[in-house]
Amino acid sequence: MIEIRGHHLLCAVTFTGRGYSRRFERDFRRVVARMNDNEEMVIVAGPDAICASVKDCADSHCHEDRIVARDRAALAEISALTGRTLDVGSRLMPHDLFTARHRTAFAEGTIRTACADCQWSDLCDTIAADGFQATLLDRR
Ligand code: SF4
Repeated sequence: MIEIRGHHLLCAVTFTGRGYSRRFERDFRRVVARMNDNEEMVIVAGPDAICASVKDCADSHCHEDRIVARDRAALAEISALTGRTLDVGSRLMPHDLFTARHRTAFAEGTIRTACADCQWSDLCDTIAADGFQATLLDRR
């Protein structure tokens, strides 16, 4: 079971292997590989499997209110997109969520309120505009 926080349901579709550190990139790659294998996901509050290497770092933002707000925003918009209420404890299958509909909504910005103050936003804009070609999550 993949523990995943809300806004990482967005980050997963633009991950190209780059991140905050080598360890973070390694952990993120492992999670994406599990998503590609369609391992079930469960929504958690706060740090998740992707955060594993950085959540206890002195400058970690994993526990900050603004990041928790990102999770809430992402879950609300993805819920509206899918017609299924997603909250902490919800379980879902990667292959059911990470479809063309999800990527299109991402590219059109309709599920990206969570990205507003993110330092990676310009990079993710470029990745989406490029059709997610360089991303590691399988395109479905
Ligand atoms: S802009 Fe930030 S929060 Fe949004 S998908 Fe990219 S990395 Fe994730």
